[in-house]
Amino acid sequence: MAETERTVALVVAAGSGSRAGGDLPKQYRRIGGRSVLAHAVDRLHAAGLDDIRVVIGAGQEALFRDAMGDGRLPSPIIGGAERQDSAHSGLEAIAADGGAARVLIHDAARPFVPPSVVDRLLAALDGYEAAVPVLPVVDTLACAESSLGEAVARDLLVRVQTPQAFRFAPILAAHRAWSGPPATDDAQIARAAGLEVAMVEGDAALEKLTYEQDFVRADQALAARLVARTGLGFDVHAFGEGEALWLGGIRIPHPRGLKGHSDADVLLHAITDALLGAIGEGDIGVHFPPSDPQWRGAPSSLFVEHARALIEARGGRIDHVDATLICEAPQLGPYRDAIRQHIAGLLRLPAARISVKATTTERLGFTGRGEGIAAQAAATVRLPEDE
Ligand code: MG
Repeated sequence: MAETERTVALVVAAGSGSRAGGDLPKQYRRIGGRSVLAHAVDRLHAAGLDDIRVVIGAGQEALFRDAMGDGRLPSPIIGGAERQDSAHSGLEAIAADGGAARVLIHDAARPFVPPSVVDRLLAALDGYEAAVPVLPVVDTLACAESSLGEAVARDLLVRVQTPQAFRFAPILAAHRAWSGPPATDDAQIARAAGLEVAMVEGDAALEKLTYEQDFVRADQALAARLVARTGLGFDVHAFGEGEALWLGGIRIPHPRGLKGHSDADVLLHAITDALLGAIGEGDIGVHFPPSDPQWRGAPSSLFVEHARALIEARGGRIDHVDATLICEAPQLGPYRDAIRQHIAGLLRLPAARISVKATTTERLGFTGRGEGIAAQAAATVRLPEDE
């Protein structure tokens, strides 16, 4: 019976604080190339929770779209001034949307939810109306005012994490009845309403990202789980009359340009295919069909940015791109730095991680006869192991 009951994961992501530094609220900061909120949502999905609602702060709609992309989740719920107001707004929105049997209320700033914790919480709801993950306190605790005071008996204390699981109707009623000062979690509100709150074993992976070093550590932990992939790209375009010559996103003064459906930037096409190849996403023609009129004359920088976005959406990182232009003319030298800078900008990488080289074919073949330009590229990308 319990398996068929609607269970909603309610992610509270309405904070405006940036205690960790930076200019973004912490749930929108990026670790491993993606927002903290996107990590939290993905882990809840991976734990088997498909019905996910997010509460954001007023005015954070654009940040939410940027963090989650379009269409992945229902529209966000707008929260209130305090965390509990936001949680309450979320519960009311779920109630208006048909209600639920169970709800897991979770803070976005704890992105790495282990499936085992979700399993323990939901199992506990078979016998309780509320359940929270807790960890023991291992440090000595003491009262601190102007100087160090009495130690506090830590064996009676636990650290309370989220997600916190509740039967839906009682926690909604508890929020509606709450009249105390701002509560920092929902278990306080549940207990005040007389609900018995079960404790299940928490997990160190659920630590809240609070300080700058927390974000650095999380980023490093994600990077350590990435594996390298290499992609190759190759492209050719023929010279044509009356065309502009674009190479690596830079317009090159030259008597002849390249023919193609887009701007025919052969170098960026090879790089796009290398990036797509590293993540097994087909080739440029799959994503930007030549039959589609919207790409006529399109700047090929768009294609490179699209490939970068696909890699980021997978939690991947681009380490390096190396490309070779194959032609007798023009000479690459005068434009090499500008091209590297432009590609680095598209990929959001330092220019030192972009290499652009050139070679001739000793006047042999179609490039040697000056009929067109060829380019090849290799991209090194790291992806999460399970991709
Ligand atoms: Mg092409």
